Amino acid sequence: MNIAESAALALAAREEGWEAAADSFAADLVLINTCSVRRTAETRLYGRLAHYAAEKKRRQAEGRSFALVVAGCMAERLGEELKREVPAVDYVMGTQARSRFPLILKAVEETLQNGTPGVFPSLDKPDEKPVFSFSASHLAEGPSPVRSFVPIMHGCNNFCSYCIVPYVRGREISRNPALILEEIRLLSEKGIREITLLGQNVNSYLSEGGERLEFSDLLELTAGAIEGTPIKRLRFLSSHPKDFSEKTIKVMAEHPCFCRHLHLPVQHGSDRILAAMNRQYTREAYLDLVKRLRAAMPDLSLSTDILVGFPGETGEDLEETLALMEEVKFVYAYTYHYNPREGTRAYDFSGRVEEKIKRERLSRVMALQKIHTASLLKKRIGRRERVLIEEISRKNADEVLGRTERDEMVVFPGNASMIGSFAELNLAALRGNTFFGKDLCLEVS
Ligand code: SF4
Repeated sequence: MNIAESAALALAAREEGWEAAADSFAADLVLINTCSVRRTAETRLYGRLAHYAAEKKRRQAEGRSFALVVAGCMAERLGEELKREVPAVDYVMGTQARSRFPLILKAVEETLQNGTPGVFPSLDKPDEKPVFSFSASHLAEGPSPVRSFVPIMHGCNNFCSYCIVPYVRGREISRNPALILEEIRLLSEKGIREITLLGQNVNSYLSEGGERLEFSDLLELTAGAIEGTPIKRLRFLSSHPKDFSEKTIKVMAEHPCFCRHLHLPVQHGSDRILAAMNRQYTREAYLDLVKRLRAAMPDLSLSTDILVGFPGETGEDLEETLALMEEVKFVYAYTYHYNPREGTRAYDFSGRVEEKIKRERLSRVMALQKIHTASLLKKRIGRRERVLIEEISRKNADEVLGRTERDEMVVFPGNASMIGSFAELNLAALRGNTFFGKDLCLEVS
């Protein structure tokens, strides 16, 4: 989501006449788009701010300066407090305040031209409280982009007890379907090949402005809209298991444009912990969903998020998580251990698990996932697959990187002219978790 929103901000700045600087030393404006999901991301921001505060002082001594703006979730969470903590920050733009960005840019221009602070929009007048608005486009700048994110909803109503997102992103808002389809049309004109529909809780999309439209309806509309265009693949991210409807499974299965990969965060394998997390599904319901998905799409690969060391978690709870992993066999998993976040319900829960135990449990989960990933990928060797060629390999300029619809990366000999094309190839060997592809047949389109 932050990648998509950063791309939208870069585009908005360009529309106001700004250009990307070669690096931050040459920039008139440094904008940091923050994430609040993990505490480590927040800690890193303070390091960055200290760096820019020192740089600002140095530049001011030379008689030139730059504006420092902090955007995103952390800006929403801390507001004015962040400015008080780091006075070098000129403006704090929360997630709801994106519509103010052109005004902020004007104020930055005034500040730079006059050497005195321009008029920034008010941060805290209640009658001027901003409301969230979607950007028109989220295509990242780059030499030859082949994929793009398209946010379709924003915010979350679920209040998982460990999560800060509903507090910093607000309640769920679904984007007008006509505007979603318009963004997709513009992306197809630019030759984009793959789209990921985005939302904190993407499958709870619900548009009620005119005709009532659920997520599955939107998927069907989108699949129809890309027919005959350069866009050949659709993904969506991230789905909440409790909101995954039977109709969504049916639409996915019926339309081959939906990639056969799904990120389906389970978080834990113990019902007791799932309830304490307020995930609103049981282990059995999750496993049943996996069964129904695989029955409808036997070639579907699944990835997940797993959170260990939640308050009250016992060794037995952990065993249940490991057993669930054995049962599902995720192709990969984002694994992390619980860190208390002030302002969330779980912050006040008793039974915090010791750091050492949390780390041990996380190591066990990671070790098991490594085995599953290696064994699932190994089984794929020898298969003929279709890949979308995305970029030149960072390790070898004579090789390109492609992605299968199951979200596997494949490297093979190639050059820049192939980027954006689809190709069929054999998955010949593995280099770490990346396949090496052979016997390529490039599709002409
Ligand atoms: S579903 Fe839960 S974990 Fe995901 S964003 Fe919402 S509150 Fe956070």
